[in-house]
This record gives sequence, structure tokens and C-alpha cells, in this order.
Amino acid sequence: MAAVTEPTLVDVENLVEAALTDAPVNTSGAWDVERVRRDFPVLSQTVNGKPLVYLDSAASAQVPQVVIDRGSKYLGEEHSNVHRGVHYLSQRATSAYEGARERVRRFINARESLECIFVRGCTEGINLVMHGYGRKFIGEGDEIIISAMEHHSNIVPWQMLCEEKGARLRVIPINDRGELQLDEFEALLNERTKLVSIIHISNALGTINPVKEIVATAHKHDVPVLVDGAQGAPHLTIDVQDLDCDFYILSGHKLFAPTGSGVVYGKRELLERMNPFIGGGSMIRSVTFEKTIYAGLPDKFEAGTPAIASQIGLGAAIDYLGSIDRAAAIRYEQELLEYATTRLNEIEGVTIIGTAHEKASVISFTVDDVHPHDIGTILDAEGIAIRAGHHCAQPVMQRFQIPATARASFAFYNTREEADKLVAAIKRVIEVFK
Ligand code: PMP
Repeated sequence: MAAVTEPTLVDVENLVEAALTDAPVNTSGAWDVERVRRDFPVLSQTVNGKPLVYLDSAASAQVPQVVIDRGSKYLGEEHSNVHRGVHYLSQRATSAYEGARERVRRFINARESLECIFVRGCTEGINLVMHGYGRKFIGEGDEIIISAMEHHSNIVPWQMLCEEKGARLRVIPINDRGELQLDEFEALLNERTKLVSIIHISNALGTINPVKEIVATAHKHDVPVLVDGAQGAPHLTIDVQDLDCDFYILSGHKLFAPTGSGVVYGKRELLERMNPFIGGGSMIRSVTFEKTIYAGLPDKFEAGTPAIASQIGLGAAIDYLGSIDRAAAIRYEQELLEYATTRLNEIEGVTIIGTAHEKASVISFTVDDVHPHDIGTILDAEGIAIRAGHHCAQPVMQRFQIPATARASFAFYNTREEADKLVAAIKRVIEVFK
């Protein structure tokens, strides 16, 4: 570990600003995947004697060296609690932690950084809105609209609320391509609707939903919209002001950051009206045995010691994304999607589940007469990491009348050669099961 130097307080203040100045971005339009791969140390290892082919970024994306270094720097030089100490280290930790919040604000284009609440991930974030907003503003006979392609984390909390309050869950159906039936959505909206909570990109199907349009439609009925951005944030450029969504939730570990980091973006006026989620230290202005007055935003929602290292890591991941040509990365992922889709479609017995016109680089598929878990296990022996199962989206499996799928999810560090290896390995699986 590097020796700890003693920066002056002026350095501490500069710490946030210095890293926030825009790094030079390569905007040549070309995507140098081999160069980008070198930023991700985990990718250069072998698994079961074969070079690792990591096709599970929708579950957790890999972390670039700069994020690892930033975490080490915090633990090695800055480790301390935030918002509490008057001492030097606490100020440094606070500066880095709040610096991460400002990076998140920029990344999603929120108006103010206090609209960005740090949580452990998407699941906690949706639960925060359920408790803070739902339990306060949704009551008996009210309705919450979700869709048939939600992740369990955007179903179960609302079911819990409905059970507690006597409210009702309404579900937008999907068509055979795995797209929302938007005409049905309009028909579901009525004067009892109190919230629309919708996935941005389906982790099980890859579908990119037209959330801007959904928000506009819901707002015509004065209904707020929560967007589950767990898969949206890694694959798209997010502008919450342009989307005009009321909440946008993301998980750091899908965005090239450590686990335990995540964000609830909420419009200030809504967050201010909401109840806190968890009570305790750091979220109060004053406490007596008679009454507690809560702190302002964002502290009201951040009781206890947060995941400081992880959130600082999220800030570093956002810096990393700012240093690459994001538009080229997104285009490249789309090319990979098209290439892998074409190659998989050539294999007899393979069926892709989720063929939406607007799709991200997540490919769910089945192979005739082979259980997805067997596909996953055989591929693992070849060093290829895919996901097999229901992807925490059992209603999607029910909709397509299948128990599970195999899922290959591509990030901008994957290559065509890796897609070829996936295809070759699936062909071998078919041979084994013949
Ligand atoms: N929503 C979607 C679309 C997801 O893909 C996931 C993670 N698979 C989640 C929510 C839950 O995120 P987390 O596990 O990070 O809380």
C-alpha cells in the first residue's frame, strides 16, 4: 500500500472538484474493445483452463481497475465515518462520499444532488419508495400499475403494500415479442391509480421500454412514475429531467461499481413529502423522547453508516464511464447484440425469448430438450459464464410458458469472438443431449 501523505485541507476540498473536471473523452466513434478490456482485470483470467468469457453483466457487471483503486484509496488513506467527525479523515471521507453523489447527479442529470439518495441497490431503493411514498399516499381501493415483465423487486414490495392497505396491483400485459401493450396501459389508468412502477430494460427479455412516453401518459392522469433502472443505467444515457420520471432507481453493481452501492433519484418535492424509510442516526435534526424532527434531504433517507466505500466506488465508475466514448460503447453493444442474435438464430433448436424491436444486449434463450441449468453448467466447464434460471422474473417465464431460460448478457467489454465461443459451446451442448 502506498505511504499515506498528509495533504492540507485545501487538498481535501480540491479532491472532489479535481476529479469532477471532465476527463478527455475519446469521441472518435471507433470502439477499441481490446484496449477497454485491459481496464477490467478480472477479464484476463482463465476459468477451468479456458480464457474467461463473461456473459453475465446483467447480473453484475465487472469493475474497472480505476474503481478498484479508488476503493483501496478510501480504505487505505481515507477510511472514516461520514458526516460525523470534525476531524481530518472524516472530512476527507465525507468529501469523497458527497463527491460521488455529485457524480451521480451529473450522470442522470438530476437538478440537485440532494435528489440522489444512496441505497444498497435497486431492491432497497424500490422498498424505500414503497415505505416512504406508498405507505403514506396509497390506501384502500387505490391501484398501482406495474408490468408483466417486472423483476421480483418491482412486484413483491407493491404486493406487500397492497396486502397491508387493501390496494390493488394492475399489470400491463406483454406481447409475444416481449413488448409492453401500451394500449392496455392507457386502459388501466383511472382515478384510483396512485403509482406506475415500470422496468426500463427487462433483465429477462432485454426489452427497452418507452419510459418517456409512459411517464407522459401517466402524468396526464397526475400519476407519478417510478422507473426501475437497474438495466437501463448501464445500457443507455439517462436524463431524468428529460424522462420527467418521478423516481429512477439504479444498482451500482450493474454499473461497473461495487455491490452495496445504488441510488434512488426522486423529484425533490416528492422526497420532501415522503416518510423516511429507516430510522436511526444521521437522519435526524433533533431527538427527544417526545418527538424526533427529521433531517432534510438526502440525510432523511440515509440512516446509519452508509456503504461509504461502495458509493465512492460508484462515483469512480461514473468517472470511468465519463472517460470513455459512451455513445460508441452503446453502439458497439447494439452491434454485438445483432451479431450474437443472428448467430444464435442459426442454431437449430435454439429459441430466443424476447425479440422486441427496441432491445438491449441481453439475450434469453432456450434449447430444445435441454434444461437451462444444464446449459449453464456445461458452458461453465468451458469458462463461459452465463445465467440460467427465472432471472427473478417468474411471471415472464409464466407468460412464455417455460420454466427458465439461459441468458447471455453482453457489455461493451465483450467481443464477437466471445459470441462465437458461446455459439460453438451451445452446439456442443446440443450434441451431448442428442
Ligand atoms: N431490477 C432489475 C431489472 C434487475 O435486473 C435487478 C437485478 N437483477 C434488480 C431490479 C434488483 O437489483 P439488486 O439485486 O441490485 O437490488
